[in-house]
Amino acid sequence: MKKSAAAQKSAATKKATTSKKATTAKKAATSAKKAAPAKKAPAKKAATASAKLKKAVVAPKKATAAVKGVAPAQPVSASRPRKEESRTALVRRARRINRELAEVFPYAHPELDFVNPFQLIVATVLSAQTTDLRVNQTTPALFAKYPTPEDLAAANPEEVEEILRPCGFFRAKTRSVIGLSKALVEEYGGEVPGRLEDLVKLPGVGRKTAFVVLGNAFGRPGITVDTHFQRLVRRWQWTDETDPDKIEAAVGALFPKSDWTDLSHHVIWHGRRICHARKPACGACPIAPLCPAYGEGETDPEKAKKLLKYEKGGFPGQRLNPPQAYLDAGGKPAPPLGAG
Ligand code: SF4
Repeated sequence: MKKSAAAQKSAATKKATTSKKATTAKKAATSAKKAAPAKKAPAKKAATASAKLKKAVVAPKKATAAVKGVAPAQPVSASRPRKEESRTALVRRARRINRELAEVFPYAHPELDFVNPFQLIVATVLSAQTTDLRVNQTTPALFAKYPTPEDLAAANPEEVEEILRPCGFFRAKTRSVIGLSKALVEEYGGEVPGRLEDLVKLPGVGRKTAFVVLGNAFGRPGITVDTHFQRLVRRWQWTDETDPDKIEAAVGALFPKSDWTDLSHHVIWHGRRICHARKPACGACPIAPLCPAYGEGETDPEKAKKLLKYEKGGFPGQRLNPPQAYLDAGGKPAPPLGAG
């Protein structure tokens, strides 16, 4: 019996020790569990800080208010949001930029003077390597003398060269517009075709010219990837592409087709007036809160204001005969050739 009691005591001691060990282990596990989130804390903090920074750089609340006038100066940040930006966020930001620009340029229109598709396609071909203003100052004399494709197809090249001289590259441009007119007469009965696949087969007509004509003379959606468009969509990090056809496809995928033509006007107008190649007027930019490249140009609001061009700077526009909406908004017509 004694022996059995001793055995029982020993068993009880062992049980108590085991139970104590188990409690200690449990406590350790619990405190380890508690300690675990502490390890994650810095990552969470970093994510919060990054989100705050992203919010400050990409879309502060004043974005809409800034559209009406001069954007408030903003801190320049080395942070580039696109890498963290989801596809959905990119689409939203891109469409918001377009909406803001529609408010800034409600009167945006093609900046070449034209009254029919023939004049528009010729003017667009002439606009290579020169300004729309210079083309607009040159085409009145051209279309007065050669009002139809038949007239221009049969023209004396030397006489056309004299008229086109102010546009630069006037010999090559004379060859282009006469060749284009001949093709219109011979292949399309003197009419400009309204299909992309036909337009791009015409001499001197690439996709850019074709989309200008489709969008503005035929009301068919098109994206015009000119030098301004290429520069701005890269600044906004809408795409990394450098090839115009790839840019067109990448940007086209961010917007419904029905927005394409107006989008092209908004982007090009913004590039010509505010977001210049060498000195973007960031301090006077209405979409600064949405722009990852804010700070690439002048951020001081007063200095930036002085960089604005055309109607935004109080100067005449590019068209000699702009649409009424432009005049109603205070825009001034461009002067004829030699007048300024
Ligand atoms: S780079 Fe400057 S001017 Fe151009 S869109 Fe961005 S903030 Fe505006």
